[in-house]
Amino acid sequence: MTTLQALPARVITVDGPSGTGKGTIAARLASLLGWHVLDTGALYRCVGLAAVQRGVALDDDAALGDLANGLHIGFDGERVLLDGSDVSSDIRTAAAGEHASRVAACPAVRRALWRLQREAVRPPGLVADGRDMGTVVFPEAEVKIYLDASPEVRVERRYKQLKEKGMDANVPDLARELAERDRRDRERSVSPMEPAADAVVIDTSSLGIEAVLVAVLGEVRRVLPDAVPDAVPDALSVI
Ligand code: C5P
Repeated sequence: MTTLQALPARVITVDGPSGTGKGTIAARLASLLGWHVLDTGALYRCVGLAAVQRGVALDDDAALGDLANGLHIGFDGERVLLDGSDVSSDIRTAAAGEHASRVAACPAVRRALWRLQREAVRPPGLVADGRDMGTVVFPEAEVKIYLDASPEVRVERRYKQLKEKGMDANVPDLARELAERDRRDRERSVSPMEPAADAVVIDTSSLGIEAVLVAVLGEVRRVLPDAVPDAVPDALSVI
């Protein structure tokens, strides 16, 4: 492994499987701290989408690496732009999740996105959510959170999320897709999804978003007290 270039700002990592609330927690935490946020799943989803659109096989490591290196992925608030086009809904379908997890197993894709993710760090700080933020992309991060939850709870949350967005979904299909995606993410040879040795692991199965946020904020206060603005209340649980 090459020596890591010093980052221009602090990073907090939020990893874990889908349906654990990590996207919401990362966005809420970044907003409370006044930091930037990076949804790295969206990057893999963009590579998967571009591969399907351009007819690149989802296991052609070299071609996918070239593709990932040439893409322009931008964020504009909630919108995700791929080479200038708004792909915000296209990348959120169940099929896009599956394509993302397949291209995510390719070492050349992970290398391309590793660089992009490190280049996304900007002052005053970045909250990065994904699968390997704490282990591979930002091993030097001072605060590492790993969120987990039971498969049943995660399927239920995903179902509600998709329905709220007016998308088609059913529980048995989601359960099968989630199990397959988990297996692929956990068993791949490069950057498998796992908590970093120094991550704080939180099981969110029976916790609401506010309770998870309180726990995460507690950890940030403990390690980086000066990163939390005075205006953020001590007991977010009052919310
Ligand atoms: O988080 P999200 O469900 O959007 O991620 C889609 C897929 O992208 C995951 O199933 C995983 O295979 C891949 N991914 C990854 N590493 C990351 C973020 C996402 O392998 N840091």
